[in-house]
Amino acid sequence: MRPHIKNPHANNPFKVAMRELPASRRIEVSSAFVAEAVKGLPLRDALDGDDVTGGDGGTAELELTEAGENVYAQGSVTGAITVACSRCVSPVAVRFDEPVRVTYVPAHAMPADDVAPTDEELELAQDDLDVYPHDGETVDLEPLVREQFVLAVPFAPLCREDCLGLCPQCGSDRNHTPCVCEKPIDPRFVALQGLKLPS
Ligand SMILES: [Zn+2]
Ligand SMILES: [Zn+2]
Repeated sequence: MRPHIKNPHANNPFKVAMRELPASRRIEVSSAFVAEAVKGLPLRDALDGDDVTGGDGGTAELELTEAGENVYAQGSVTGAITVACSRCVSPVAVRFDEPVRVTYVPAHAMPADDVAPTDEELELAQDDLDVYPHDGETVDLEPLVREQFVLAVPFAPLCREDCLGLCPQCGSDRNHTPCVCEKPIDPRFVALQGLKLPS
């Protein structure tokens, strides 16, 4: 009889032992996980305080199947993430529902960044743009889920289509405070003012 082995990943829902495959996972993503995932993004750091990010989080539903040395993971990641409006810096809740389809390959088969890829690696890179490494024992879904939250942040999120943004001179939010500042000088003239012409 096979001895009962205690699952070493019982407390980490992101880790799937390869001997359990095929497997399906439903992972609840906490706001703390999201905060860690997007730390350092300027549009995230621009938010004032943590009180507006409490609704962040989501769910990852993934099916894992083995194919030789590789493991396919497919399913979806849905989530919510709060970032700053690119014009007025007020919080914007971004929601997403992304289908996911990636391949986990043995770590030694991953293309190295600093070495020219082999033909086999090039083929791999073309076939699967989303490739993650596994160590032969465990598939770690954490980097995959983390990346979905990072990718979900738009290049220039807006709190609303016609956000008026902040006044570049007095800094007031023009959505709430009518601004009395004079229109700035045409930037082309500003550039000319800085020109030192030979005399
Ligand atoms: Zn705005
Ligand atoms: Zn102003």
